[in-house]
Amino acid sequence: MKKNLVVITGASSGIGAATAVAFSQAGYPLLLLARRLEKLKTLNLPNTICEKVDVTDLPAMRDAIAKAESIYGHTDCLINNAGVLLLGNVETQNPAEWQNMLNINVMGVLNGVGIVLNEMIKRKGGTIINVSSIAGRSAFPDHAVYCATKFAVHGLTETIRQETAQHNVRLITISPGIVETEVLNHTTSQKIVDDYKNYKKQIEVTINSEDVARSILFAYSQPQNVCIREIILAPTRQDT
Ligand code: NDP
Repeated sequence: MKKNLVVITGASSGIGAATAVAFSQAGYPLLLLARRLEKLKTLNLPNTICEKVDVTDLPAMRDAIAKAESIYGHTDCLINNAGVLLLGNVETQNPAEWQNMLNINVMGVLNGVGIVLNEMIKRKGGTIINVSSIAGRSAFPDHAVYCATKFAVHGLTETIRQETAQHNVRLITISPGIVETEVLNHTTSQKIVDDYKNYKKQIEVTINSEDVARSILFAYSQPQNVCIREIILAPTRQDT
């Protein structure tokens, strides 16, 4: 049977790239979005369109999705995965970093939702999967603004789920703990990076992007009448 279009933001590395591979292996046509186009193309997946799109750029995101839909039909699943982790203490952190996180982690998710939701409601079907974090459920040191963005993702996802449940649209939150990706590379405080790496060393065995990708595919693969509202997954040895 012909499979429907899946759109993945932030597919150029980490969880997004692994999710693209997992969904491609499961036979889905894909639209992959990120700013580093070359990294998207390197995945070299069949039936896949790669577009250089910043998720804060609503018109560019809308155009890319329209282009993919003209080839593969409607978007049945949108995975809002793009995000940045700029750890910092608000006393010292540059406000430009706060704004950047809010723009990408919150507005980027809302932009994606805004583009596909009405059509899903009209069609009475579809799935939006938002990648939040365990930092969307609890506070952590040096995570104030990151937590603010991920609490926002939790809040907006569950609210929209309630609002669209009657239309048979699924909203799913994925909440990973520590995953080995590039996500820490953008934090500017070396001390915070070192503390984080030391904590990771204590955990010894973390989880990888493929583990998270598998959980995303599992949630999406349920029949449309089954909505797994949230998956929280973290390394077994992570005690926070
Ligand atoms: P990576 O840094 O490996 O991946 C982040 C992805 O987001 C990249 O593909 C990057 O692509 C993309 N991205 C960042 N900014 C933008 C933007 N403005 N427009 C489009 N794409 C953007 O980290 P992860 O894979 O770990 O992160 C994926 C998600 O998982 C994030 O939402 C993160 O918060 C969340 N998460 C990660 C955890 C972890 O421990 N790794 C734990 C919990 C949640 P490019 O730079 O090419 O644009």
